[in-house]
Amino acid sequence: MGRVEGRVALVTGAGRGIGRATAGRLAREGARVCLADVDAGVASAAAAQLVDEGLDAFAARMDVTARTEVEAVVGQVLERYGRLDILVNNAGIVRDNLLYRMGDEEWRQVLNVHLTGAFLCSRAAQRPMVESGYGRIVSVSSLSALGNRGQANYAAAKAGLLGFTRTLALELGPYGVTANAVAPGFIETEMTRATAERLGVPWEEFAARRAEQIPVRRAGRPEDVAAAILFLASEEAGFVNGQVLYVTGGPAG
Ligand code: NAP
Repeated sequence: MGRVEGRVALVTGAGRGIGRATAGRLAREGARVCLADVDAGVASAAAAQLVDEGLDAFAARMDVTARTEVEAVVGQVLERYGRLDILVNNAGIVRDNLLYRMGDEEWRQVLNVHLTGAFLCSRAAQRPMVESGYGRIVSVSSLSALGNRGQANYAAAKAGLLGFTRTLALELGPYGVTANAVAPGFIETEMTRATAERLGVPWEEFAARRAEQIPVRRAGRPEDVAAAILFLASEEAGFVNGQVLYVTGGPAG
């Protein structure tokens, strides 16, 4: 018996990285999963891999910043499976720059994807959850919520997600719906590879240098974050609400 047996999950940004690992973990633990991503190609490839394993999953193209697309995908999930139990707000982008060089668009895009995206998805998902009296909303924040040089936009968005999560916990808790966040530290994904490339540092060197600063002396993997999300998305986490779980290989801050 899987830890989310019979549940239905929607994971945003599920085409690769942390989202893909999370969708896979939830599916292997018994959930039926919609893998949504702004890039339809990666979402389809990720879903196909799960279907090949004999799991129940499908892909949907969805830009989390587009209300109509979000509502349409939640509709597709309900049509296909008749319920929605777990939402993972994972989709994300970085547009790093020091404040004095940060353009309006870099600010707006990051706030839009992380914060507006989580708002639109959570608002659409809470309706069937409240109706059924059960739900788990897990948002992917970041260690950067505590502040990180070159990431004023990203840090503000990820800190915003924590206030958002606490508020959902208060509003939706009475209806059996919990809201929690995970805050990963340095995780090996396309996102961190792109950062290394932008800084002109070879990936191996970049990752090794970061790992030296982490108490467990290794970089995080998408599966590390997926495991934490799985716990918060499971039924047994029902008394954990409005919390942030740092997945950082050491104490945060
Ligand atoms: P990733 O490999 O870049 O994956 C992010 C996924 O989200 C991509 O498939 C991306 O598609 C998709 N996406 C971007 N904008 C979207 C939108 N508007 N609507 C729907 N999907 C969208 O990044 P990751 O490292 O797995 O990050 C996943 C989450 O973890 C993010 O919220 C990130 O901020 C957070 N996080 C990551 C780390 C880390 O070290 N990697 C640390 C802390 C927190 P495209 O590629 O087509 O844009």
